[in-house]
Amino acid sequence: MAASILDGNMLAAQIRAEVAEDVRKLKDAGVQPGLAVILAGHNPASEIYVRNKVKASEQVGVHGETLTPPESVTTEELLRMVAELNRRDEIDGILVQLPLPAQVDSKKVLLAVSPEKDVDGFHPINVGNLSTQRPGLVPCTPAGVIEILRRSNIPIEGRHAVVIGRSDIVGKPVAMLLLNNNATVTVCHSKTKNLTQVAREADILVAAIGKAGFVTADLVKPGATVIDVGINKITDRKEFEKFFAGDPAREKSFNEKGSTLVGDVDPHAASVAGAITPVPGGVGPLTIAMLLMNTVKACRMRRTRN
Ligand code: NAP
Repeated sequence: MAASILDGNMLAAQIRAEVAEDVRKLKDAGVQPGLAVILAGHNPASEIYVRNKVKASEQVGVHGETLTPPESVTTEELLRMVAELNRRDEIDGILVQLPLPAQVDSKKVLLAVSPEKDVDGFHPINVGNLSTQRPGLVPCTPAGVIEILRRSNIPIEGRHAVVIGRSDIVGKPVAMLLLNNNATVTVCHSKTKNLTQVAREADILVAAIGKAGFVTADLVKPGATVIDVGINKITDRKEFEKFFAGDPAREKSFNEKGSTLVGDVDPHAASVAGAITPVPGGVGPLTIAMLLMNTVKACRMRRTRN
């Protein structure tokens, strides 16, 4: 039986509606959450991401603003900018869009963001809060993975979750969140031995690798839930055929655009899995939705009593 498809667009729309309602209540109480994004230099992909984030904020009633220092900006100038945003009471979330220009010490700039306003959840204080189960801000994509499971009524407690990938941005925080939700968690990486065997033990398999179609059907236990975090652009016709032969909708869009997106999971794994997130339209849409949720959470934690 084919897997049920976990529709990230639908879940993200639900979350946005909830956030909008929350913002409305805050505004009634005289508080408007605010998000500031620092976009340094000119990176076309970053410009699109930032535009989408600010637009999504405004759609739910969050004040959004973008600061655009030039490509030549120095670490010191960015530190001053972050300090000013840390100081401004009406700004609840600060995002520093990566990559920063080469001359900038990115780690120093990220570390300067107040943990209370760190809506990306990357600050070591928030990493510590997550691992010790204290209130804090959780990275958006990993939080989105948990929201998909929770809102799709997929039990986590007592399940064996296998996470492939151990990055600070995705793999590690996903693993920690699953552990905090009482899963038994195994984390795999490039040095893992017998990865196929380990993956096949998973009730919940999370792929965050950055390699197109890496998780083939033989890595999936029949009936398992598969969460595909990967976003990979493919342009090669042969690769396209390998993943999407016989899919007329994809064929049409590939022919028009000359590329398509595939996750870290081979779409054929859907014939074995019990439930699976598509790419696009799975984990991706949750990331911005969770950013909005984090901004409101940061606002509530800092500016209200609940
Ligand atoms: P990353 O920093 O490159 O980390 C990749 C991880 O995969 C590393 O831990 C690496 O292991 C592991 N890995 C690589 N090759 C492997 C192999 N052959 N076998 C087992 N493990 C292997 O990537 P990331 O930032 O976590 O992102 C992962 C994917 O998620 C990318 O496709 C990215 O585009 C996507 N992503 C999506 C969203 C979203 O909104 N949906 C957000 C963020 C990222 P080592 O540690 O041993 O090197």
